[in-house]
Amino acid sequence: MGTLRRCLIAGNWKMHTDRAGAVALAEAVGQSVAELGDVDVAVIPPACFLEAVTAVLAGGAVAVGAQNLHPAEKGAFTGEISVSMLRSLGVRYVLCGHSERRHVFGESSAFVGEKVRAAHAGGLVPVLCVGETLEDRDAGRTEAVVAEQLDLGLASLDAAQVEATVIAYEPVWAIGTGRTATPAQAQEVHAFLRARLLSAYGAACAAAVRIQYGGSVKPDNAAELLAQPDIDGALVGGASLDAASFAKIAAARPA
Ligand code: PEP
Repeated sequence: MGTLRRCLIAGNWKMHTDRAGAVALAEAVGQSVAELGDVDVAVIPPACFLEAVTAVLAGGAVAVGAQNLHPAEKGAFTGEISVSMLRSLGVRYVLCGHSERRHVFGESSAFVGEKVRAAHAGGLVPVLCVGETLEDRDAGRTEAVVAEQLDLGLASLDAAQVEATVIAYEPVWAIGTGRTATPAQAQEVHAFLRARLLSAYGAACAAAVRIQYGGSVKPDNAAELLAQPDIDGALVGGASLDAASFAKIAAARPA
């Protein structure tokens, strides 16, 4: 964790919870992280519960994110949600290109880049997710894959917008599998991503961008991952559905 960067712990609830459960979980997270102070915390509920969750967390320490957006402002895009719709619900962050969007729903890196640009244009903070499959890793393609996802995800942004973008490195083979990247494996890719930001946008920008790690982060592995110099937070799936576990992960940020 670099000294310039504030740790961001975000909980991706995916397609879990019901309305009452989402409200209860938001209340519990709000209470359990209230005292932490020196860490940014966000929850990312299903879209249909965003309004209820932002109402619970309004004015508190926990921000709310959305799991997806459509880059168009409006139009004939049945089932989709625009950035202004998310803004109107009090959302601050939005995931762009989560691996499930890329691999289950076939989103391309170019389309993910459109989402990132739309998020910035509409005043949201995009969390650009990148990560390789196990096949990519075994074939030695990790750097090539994340470089393409990073470059197309950030295409056409200026350095100030890149600085205000959160990157999440999430190896696909570690998401929801219980198989976490080792701290050294994660740090290696984070350092690669930061070096790529440095050569494209300069040292100040690269030093300011937050790069989260995601992939089976749990209370017992969070501290070691978050202690790595280029890991600036965690994007947490399964463990974020339990407020106590999620709060322990947030509390594991380096002092
Ligand atoms: C995720 O949903 O982005 C994620 C990392 O999930 P999990 O923590 O369950 O691996």
